[in-house]
Amino acid sequence: MKPFDLTGKAALVTGGNGGIGLGMAQGLAAAGATLAIAGRDEKKNAAAAKALGGRAISIKVDLRDENACRAAVDQAAQKLGRLDILVNNAGTNIRKAPQDYTLEEWRLVLDTNLTSAFVASQAAYPHMQRAGGGKIINIGSMMSLFGASFVAPYGASKGGIVQLTKALATAWAKDNIQVNAVLPGWIDTALTRQARKDVAGLHERVLARTPAGRWGAPEDLAGVAVFLSGSSSDFVTGVAIPVDGGYSAQG
Ligand code: NDP
Repeated sequence: MKPFDLTGKAALVTGGNGGIGLGMAQGLAAAGATLAIAGRDEKKNAAAAKALGGRAISIKVDLRDENACRAAVDQAAQKLGRLDILVNNAGTNIRKAPQDYTLEEWRLVLDTNLTSAFVASQAAYPHMQRAGGGKIINIGSMMSLFGASFVAPYGASKGGIVQLTKALATAWAKDNIQVNAVLPGWIDTALTRQARKDVAGLHERVLARTPAGRWGAPEDLAGVAVFLSGSSSDFVTGVAIPVDGGYSAQG
């Protein structure tokens, strides 16, 4: 038994062209999986596919477009020959006071972070069901657990990700599909480099509150992705695992 071996498995990582998605994709590739990474930016897609050493194809897609999202999942399954693992990682944020959001901004964040995960999971379901099982990993956040004054739509989307995870896990357990969430702490990526510009004092507050005493790196998410993608997690479903250097344990 090789619980962390993903040889012969095929994975789609949304937003796999950078940051946390690429960190997870690198873990999956190292464990033997072949990959499709999906994002809007063709240059980032190409660079990431190269960084994955020929184990990955890339798909240019805006996941907010329902039909394009479904097509990307089908394309990944078709090009890789199967689809065992879906990582719903693509995400975005707009930071401002709740009273200042337009409905368009609210929808942009919800469509990117939550609706695309639902639609991609729906599209992946028949492929996984036919194959006799699968793994879905949804990316939440510390904002799945905590509130902050500048994240109304982001927090709503990430809280929703945890409940979506539980709903899918209970519905699809009979199909041998495990659905789990990962809740990253503060990880150094393009998204949080922008947050550090937008929110004064954020960098220092994160360092002070994180027991590990540092920001996370995308590679810190590689191991949990492998665990939740392999037979190691066949009896683990519907959970949300913080990968946060102790941030959520700190009183
Ligand atoms: P990045 O900005 O580095 O990555 C976001 C990814 O999502 C990019 O690959 C981007 O690709 C893709 N993406 C965004 N919008 C779309 C879209 N409409 N269609 C397709 N792809 C899209 O951020 P992170 O790596 O930090 O974030 C990844 C996930 O982790 C997000 O869900 C985020 O909320 C979550 N997270 C991050 C934390 C952190 O501290 N960094 C903490 C907790 C959660 P492209 O631009 O090419 O479309």
